[in-house]
Amino acid sequence: MSKTFVLHQMGLPDMSTTSLRVLVSGGGIAGNAVALQLLRNGIRTTVVERATAPRPGGQAVDLRGPSKEAAERMGLMPGIAKRQLDERGMSYVDGDGKIYARMAMEDFDGEGAVAEIEITRGDLNQVLLDAIDTTDQTLLDYRYGDHITALTEDETGVDVTFASGATGRYDLVVGADGVHSATRKLAFGPEDQFATYLGGYCSYFTMPTPAGVRPGWFEMRSVPGAMLGLRPDRDPATSKAILIVRADHDPTLRRDVTAQHNLLNSFLADAGWRSADILAAMETTPDYYFDELVRIDMPTLSAGRVTLLGDAGYCGSPMTGMGTAMAIVGAYVLAGEIASTPTDLTGALKRYEETLVPFLDKAREIPGGSIKVMLPKSAWMTALARVNMRLMLSAPMRPLTKKIFFSNSTGDFPLPNY
Ligand SMILES: Cc1cc2nc3c(=O)[nH]c(=O)nc-3n(C[C@H](O)[C@H](O)[C@H](O)COP(=O)(O)OP(=O)(O)OC[C@H]3O[C@@H](n4cnc5c(N)ncnc54)[C@H](O)[C@@H]3O)c2cc1C
Repeated sequence: MSKTFVLHQMGLPDMSTTSLRVLVSGGGIAGNAVALQLLRNGIRTTVVERATAPRPGGQAVDLRGPSKEAAERMGLMPGIAKRQLDERGMSYVDGDGKIYARMAMEDFDGEGAVAEIEITRGDLNQVLLDAIDTTDQTLLDYRYGDHITALTEDETGVDVTFASGATGRYDLVVGADGVHSATRKLAFGPEDQFATYLGGYCSYFTMPTPAGVRPGWFEMRSVPGAMLGLRPDRDPATSKAILIVRADHDPTLRRDVTAQHNLLNSFLADAGWRSADILAAMETTPDYYFDELVRIDMPTLSAGRVTLLGDAGYCGSPMTGMGTAMAIVGAYVLAGEIASTPTDLTGALKRYEETLVPFLDKAREIPGGSIKVMLPKSAWMTALARVNMRLMLSAPMRPLTKKIFFSNSTGDFPLPNY
């Protein structure tokens, strides 16, 4: 693999939108959203997605404030409305499934754990892919089952080699290939330079809805050092499981599914409630997802003709609940800036970063501060957290609780109009 890079902004030559060629690495929410907006602006776009087909899976992601506004401006709302989830709020349950605290969506005006608009990650990705299908297909080259292996930049473009052996030359490469971005590694350096392990692991997957589940409610059970939950899916016959555990970092877990299952079982096998159903379903689910909780901090989002978007550039971890919001808003701003000044890519990338940073600073805050606060390790701290949750969600305390939820609110971010 070659790596020839100029790690600073450089003067890039003039381009009109029609002659620009952009390569997007990654066909997740960030990659597909930016591709959609680039195509709509008449920019030739190649998307290369490592998976051989659109990746299903992921549970509900919420759209509120700037991300809802960006989705509206991108014309995504009709597609989202068709796939919107019926999620009415979140209940906290004990080991017997008895509810001890409840956060209804309307009690928090859609600003609590459950937003007014909830859609599964896979469905949102499909809405974006459907929208891409309506663009000028002569501008689009969408490739599954391939990925970048080398980037070589010179003054007039980037030469790219793909794993398939294909090669191409582009004006700009957008790394939207997730938290473990290969584009970031090639252009900026190894992941450990930019990643901070936050102290835990998460897993998401789809499973048959167990009998007796209350329709429309996200149910959550906390035990020392871990939590597990079940969220509604669009199809009532299935539900989305979420498991989060606190653990020391273990790089060997990344590719060892048995060890991942053992870790999750070690925390949750005795959790009561629906833990037996959930852990059994984990063994056979078609869309098992497991990853470490990591935050990515880049000194700058762009290096020459490579820029980072979404989790690749500014992952705050799923604990923020803002990954998809950052991907949508980031894609909207990046494409908007490129299309505004196609003759000045350097300026566009600079403005993309400057515009986005105030939003990212707030969006990447973890509600409550850290995984340690969210998942206390001792039994007595877990019991105390339960009492606290009951109190915080009681009617008299809701205004204060709202303030705590709003403390990382990004609602006042002025989304530029492109
Ligand atoms: C299957 C899946 C399920 C998820 N479930 C949840 C969830 O339930 N809750 C939550 O908060 N977050 C979840 N996430 C993360 C969430 O999607 C992101 O935080 C957010 O949407 C930002 O998206 P992104 O496009 O930046 O990154 P991602 O969603 O990670 O998308 C990156 C894309 O790039 C592809 N890719 C990876 N490496 C390469 C490569 N070398 N070359 C080309 N393509 C590559 C991946 O296959 C993926 O399609 C999930 C991600 C995935 C991939």
